[in-house]
Amino acid sequence: MHEQGFDNIYRDLEGLRARDRYRRRRTLESPQGARVVVDGRRLLNFCSNDYLGLASDPRVGEAFRTGIERWGTGAGASHLVCGHTAAHEALEIALAEFTGRPRALLYSSGYHANVGVINALLSRGDFVFEDRLNHASLLDGGWISLATFTWFDHLDAAHLERGLEAVADAGARKLIASDGTFSMDGDRCRLDDAIAVAKRHRAWLMIDDAHGMGVHGRQGVGLVDPQQRSTDDVPVLVGTLGKAFGTAGAFVAGDEGLIETLIQRSRNYIYTTAMPSALAVATLVSLSILRDETWRREHLAHLVDRFRTEASTLGFSVMPSVSPIQPLVVGDAARALALSSALEERGFLITAIRPPTVPEGTSRLRVTLTAAHKTSDVDQLLEALAAVDRGLEPEA
Ligand SMILES: *Cc1c(COP(=O)(O)O)cnc(C)c1O
Repeated sequence: MHEQGFDNIYRDLEGLRARDRYRRRRTLESPQGARVVVDGRRLLNFCSNDYLGLASDPRVGEAFRTGIERWGTGAGASHLVCGHTAAHEALEIALAEFTGRPRALLYSSGYHANVGVINALLSRGDFVFEDRLNHASLLDGGWISLATFTWFDHLDAAHLERGLEAVADAGARKLIASDGTFSMDGDRCRLDDAIAVAKRHRAWLMIDDAHGMGVHGRQGVGLVDPQQRSTDDVPVLVGTLGKAFGTAGAFVAGDEGLIETLIQRSRNYIYTTAMPSALAVATLVSLSILRDETWRREHLAHLVDRFRTEASTLGFSVMPSVSPIQPLVVGDAARALALSSALEERGFLITAIRPPTVPEGTSRLRVTLTAAHKTSDVDQLLEALAAVDRGLEPEA
């Protein structure tokens, strides 16, 4: 509750500033990539989610242009009215095939998809279980659905199971939602444990693999390999197109029953304009690059490995992450900001991640690596980190 209506809106903002939580946007003057221009300066960029370096790939760009020639710029309506085109249809079929699921459904963004899916599947009287470090969109979906919301400790299947055991109502729907790769820590959901618990309690498991798809797994399929995990194991799979795919949008993959339910009931699907068809055309090309160009994943894995080894040698405490997300936790927000500025002076763009995105006292530099980086870029980053070293020691 706010005490004085809108009268204290500026005081609120000042409060954020005083606690080093004020956020500001950096304006890029160049395309997304390993090197970007900010305030007229060229910086080595270590904070994008463009994991495979496809966000400014010329082939994807060319497909986008061809798509505009064929389809125009705007979809002009929602999918259910008259905005759904053969371009969307083709991408949905390709994404279903990619993930080894019978069907896939496009959403405008991962945020839309997560909120829309949970809200469509659950309502008052149902139950949703969420990992404490889940992405904000999964949390919001759970809250908006009005289902009973239960946290479980990060990756803790035993804690999750105790929560499920406490549900007395046998007829209620139970949904377990988890990030595949956790967006701020870079570690992964323990899929075997989560599947086993879900099955014992006849719950559905929803995996949001926003950071995993394209980055690891056979052909870049991510955490949920269809050769090993059926839709019985993971009934709801979400992927986003704005990260490794280098475009924008998201999709949900699963059985006929899930997808038709979303088409009928998902408000975030029904009441929004379809993504531009040209974007679907471009994404189809980025999907084929993502599957075929395995060197991107291999090079990225090599960079991750090198960063972790060298950072540990330099005495930094790296987190248990084998993903391109390599956070260096420094503690308080002011320190994270100061380090981010010090690195920028040296020519590196790495944003400080602060509460409420991460828990109090765990502000961090969230370093992300991409296939567009050269080994020498990572080495330069390590040198710069060594130079600002003392600030990077975790606080006692
Ligand atoms: C980025 C992200 C999303 C949101 O996806 P957008 O397409 O950017 O809206 C959802 N879930 C996770 C885990 C993410 O990291």
